[in-house]
Formats: sequence, structure tokens, C-alpha cells
Amino acid sequence: PNTQYEQLRRRIYTNTKEFWFYIHSYLLDIQKKANDIAPEIVDTVNQVLSLGSEHKRSLLHDIEQLAEVDGYEDWRFKESQDLSNLIQERFKHLQNPEDCDTARKLVCNLNKGCGYGCQLHHVVYCFMVAYGTKRTLILKSKGWKYHRAGWEEIFMPLSETCVSPNGDTVANWPGHAESQVINLPIIDSLSPRPPFLPLAIPEDIAPRLTRLHGDPIVWWVGQILKYLLRPKVKTTNIIQEAMTKLGFKKPIVGVHIRRTDKVGTEAAFHRLEEYMTAVEEYYNQLAYTKKVDKKRVYLASDDPKVMVEAKTKYPDYEIICDPQISKTAGVSTRYSDTSLFGIILDIYMLSMSDFLVCTFSSQVCRVAYEIMQNYYPDASSKYTSLDDIYYYGGQNPHNMIAVLPHEPKRQGELQLTVGDLVGVAGNHWNGFSKGKNLRTNQNGLYPSFKVKDKIEVAKFPTYSELYK
Ligand code: GDP
Repeated sequence: PNTQYEQLRRRIYTNTKEFWFYIHSYLLDIQKKANDIAPEIVDTVNQVLSLGSEHKRSLLHDIEQLAEVDGYEDWRFKESQDLSNLIQERFKHLQNPEDCDTARKLVCNLNKGCGYGCQLHHVVYCFMVAYGTKRTLILKSKGWKYHRAGWEEIFMPLSETCVSPNGDTVANWPGHAESQVINLPIIDSLSPRPPFLPLAIPEDIAPRLTRLHGDPIVWWVGQILKYLLRPKVKTTNIIQEAMTKLGFKKPIVGVHIRRTDKVGTEAAFHRLEEYMTAVEEYYNQLAYTKKVDKKRVYLASDDPKVMVEAKTKYPDYEIICDPQISKTAGVSTRYSDTSLFGIILDIYMLSMSDFLVCTFSSQVCRVAYEIMQNYYPDASSKYTSLDDIYYYGGQNPHNMIAVLPHEPKRQGELQLTVGDLVGVAGNHWNGFSKGKNLRTNQNGLYPSFKVKDKIEVAKFPTYSELYK
């Protein structure tokens, strides 16, 4: 298929959702206002909401069908495999130099002072810079707060030939071309910043990737996680055992509810009902395609109370969660072996789910979403985030391009001219997003459907020596 066709297909899907976010949210508004004064309006609005959401589901269903009957489905699967193989080959090549004594290295310390998801993202960032500078990534992980003996007891070492951080010349970032070893700081204190940082994807695969995938940077991060998280046999066994024991079965929606230390500091509180409304909508949509015998949820949280609450309030659901996990997920025992397997399992099950409902403000859920991309040609729309749009901690500004003009209708709306760049701050999931028009320097709200993502590319090395 040509790129334009694939992008149009995805755009219609996303904007059908956006259209309904808009209508739904404003109808609810009207309903609230009419509640005490005009009961007949409340009734009418209810009818519109009900048939309207059916209408939306029917549209989404048809667009999904389109991808199944347009004759390109086999191509999508093959292309996603080919692209993944291409990149994984390059990673393997980069990470296994013939002579470790002379290899150029980039050293990354796993022990960033933050949680598991945040640490994974830290290593992913290191890997991006390693790939971009063609240096073998050396991961220092002894004394890891989640597993003292280090990363290599849980996951495969990053290299089979080269794990020593030693070399003739050692320098701190950015070092020099001739420095054999360069130590990389955390992304927050990186200076100067190389072009390889998110949201940039490698230029040489960009044409293929933008055709295949709705959010290329998520695919790119997913590929790095695929390489990094190759499990040791023991880890695979623990995961398999847990899946069987818990009765993990499809269809299933992965729900991540981040509470405890995050709420009020880095994210707002969201009630269980908000998550479950999105889950319910997923199953309503699924009912268009197949008979749903059992509505299943995999529930992950750092707060065990929410699991009890879910089981009490939603008896018609099969709620799968590991009470063992929940016990060890609490703050007090967070940094130990048991908490390590708790979070590994939760992220794994979330990523294996058919759909994700969570807050993208949490790195736990963003990691699950990134890994999820490894199981489908394009899983970029298989989520509902109750707060942020996808982002990568430490990323460069996320810009959108206006594809339709907009004249402000209310106070606080942005004026848009086709081609304007808009730095996006967030989606309000009510038809509007917030951002800054970089041409006018104006901040405000704009209809989400009037822009498209600006795909950022950077000139990464192309590893052409592999294709001689
Ligand atoms: P963030 O703070 O949510 O952005 O993500 P981090 O991964 O950086 O830190 C949160 C930490 O809390 C995780 O690494 C876990 O240790 C713990 N945690 C949060 N949510 C869960 C969960 O659903 N299950 C488990 N087992 N632990 C969790």
C-alpha cells in the first residue's frame, strides 16, 4: 500500500474517536446544565448519546474491517517482521564487537534514582545514543536496587562478547571521537544533546516505519525494549508459571492504576470507575466483531486496595490480579527481588493484553504500551490514557502540523493556518488539545483533528557494513 493510504486509514480511525470525544463530552455538558430545568432535554440527550455511541462503534468497526479486506494485511505482518529483524540484527551487531579490548564503548549506569519503568527508559535512552554513536553499550548494574547481583541474572546480558567498561581512554559525555570509552549521564543532565533523542527515529527506516506504524517512536522504543528485555530461562519460567496460575486468557484488557506516591505529586487521582468506563467501551466495541463470553481484566496497581474494590464493584467481570504482586508492590518493599518480579510480571501481562487502560503519566504503563508494539504490526491505537498523551521523559518538544485552518470560536482557542507548527502539551480527550502555535507564540486550545503528528527523524548510522 502507499503511505498516504495507510496514513489516511489510521487518521480516519483516530478522528472518528476524536469526533465522538467532542460530541460526547459536550452532550454531557448540556445534560448537566439541563438537569434541573428541562427534563425533556435530558431525555433527548440520553437518546443521542446512546445511538451516537452505537454509530461511532459501527464506524470504528467498519474502519477496522477495511484493514482486513483491503488485501494488505499479510503485507503489514511481513513488513513489521522484516523491519524488526533488520533492526534486531543491527543491535546484535553493535553489541557484539569482535574485539572488546579495542571496541568503542558507551557506559550507562542502570541505577538511576527512580522506579523500574523509569530505569528501563533510562537504559533505552542510553541504547539510542549507543546506536546513534555506534558504540557498544555497557550496562553497569551491580548493586541494582531491584536485584543486587545485577541485570544479567534476570535478563540476557546486552552482549555476548563485550561487557567490560574498561578501555585505553575514558571520557565523560560528549568525549571525543577517539575516546574509547564514554560515560553517559542521565538524560536530564545531558549536554550537549545529540540528535538521536526521542522523539526522533532513524532516518533510513523512517519511510517504511511511517507507512507501517501510527506512532513510529513508540515502535522504535519497543524494538529497543525487545532487545534489552530478552529474559533468562529462569525469568521465562517464572512468567509462564504466573500466567498459568493466574489464568491469563484473552480477550483481556490490561488496566494499570497508579496510586500511592504518584498521586498528588506527579499525577492526579482517577477513580476506578473512570478506568472501567473505558474497559466497558472496549468490550462494547468488541461485541461488534465477536460474542464476548467473559469480560476479563488484568489489573495491575501499586495499591492493593483497588483490587478489592474492583472485585466488589464489578462482579460481572473476571478480574485477574496477583494478590502476591499487590502485596509486594507497595512502597515499603518496592525495591527488592519480590518487587522486581511483581513489576516484571505486571508489565508483561499488561503488554500482552488486547487493550490498555491507564494513565500515560506513569512510566509503568508507557513501558507496557511500548512492549505491546512487538506483538502487532501497529498497536498504536490500542489504549486509553486517562491523562497524558504518549511521551518519553526528556524528549525534545513534540510538534504537530496544522492540516486544517482554525479560527478561534471561544476565548482561549488557537488560530491555526495550514502548515503551522504546534507544540502539543496534551489532549483533553474532549475533542480539543492544548498547545502553542510556534508561528504566533500563542498558547491555547485547538480541535485535535486539525493537526497531524510531525514525525521527527535523525541521521543515525545506517550500519551499511551489514549489507555488503
Ligand atoms: P512511575 O512512577 O509510575 O512513572 O513509574 P516507575 O516505574 O518509575 O516507578 C513506579 C514504581 O512503583 C514501579 O517501578 C514499581 O516498583 C511500583 N509500581 C507502580 N505500579 C505498579 C504496579 O502496577 N505493579 C507493581 N508490581 N508495582 C508497581
